[in-house]
Amino acid sequence: MKPSRAHITTCKGCRAPICWALTSANGRRQPIDAEPTTEGNVAVMQGADGQLYVRSVTAARPDIRPGEWQAMPHHATCTSPPPRRSSSGQRARSGVRPAPWAR
Ligand SMILES: [Zn+2]
Repeated sequence: MKPSRAHITTCKGCRAPICWALTSANGRRQPIDAEPTTEGNVAVMQGADGQLYVRSVTAARPDIRPGEWQAMPHHATCTSPPPRRSSSGQRARSGVRPAPWAR
């Protein structure tokens, strides 16, 4: 199995093809590499609602079931992590200049 073209989008960071899936654990959106790989530690499937769902492949549930494919979370392969916010702290006060007394 592979993701259908309708699900494939582009990572805003590294421009790699990814698809968004909901985690079966808590329903959060998680980016997954669009290209299936047997190295991946998650299994992705398309639900009856057309949404992609992702679950972890664990020792307890190692089997890839019919309709699923094995993939890598994009967090593991993204070459452009989100920018840190630390560098913006220095300039925060630049608009506040103490004015000298006028008289
Ligand atoms: Zn990326």
